[in-house]
Amino acid sequence: MKGVYILKIILKKNQEIIIGKLGKINFKKGNYYYVGSSQNNIDKRIQRHKRKEKKIHWHIDYLTTNAQVEKITAKKFINYLKEKECLEAKKLLKKYEPIKKFGCSDCKCISHLFFSKNT
Ligand SMILES: [Zn+2]
Repeated sequence: MKGVYILKIILKKNQEIIIGKLGKINFKKGNYYYVGSSQNNIDKRIQRHKRKEKKIHWHIDYLTTNAQVEKITAKKFINYLKEKECLEAKKLLKKYEPIKKFGCSDCKCISHLFFSKNT
């Protein structure tokens, strides 16, 4: 099954993390929302995001492998097309603070990762 997903990632402490070529980013304690899509197996992709042990491939992997990440949950939109991924990112941008250039190297979005202190 293909589709679009939104991960919710809880970071327990303020943390400085090097995100590949983006460099060092200061992540504040709180909740992060990440939008992605899988064109073949969405469940397998989400399971991969939840695993700490993996080969780093995407920006998000630097965050999900961090020791201070407490919990990752996912909301799925089955059969949503890839374009919907960016529409979901735009919706999150209205509510939350973007981590600029994160996870969006192949589209024109400001970010696909957003920070929320409380919710
Ligand atoms: Zn996008």
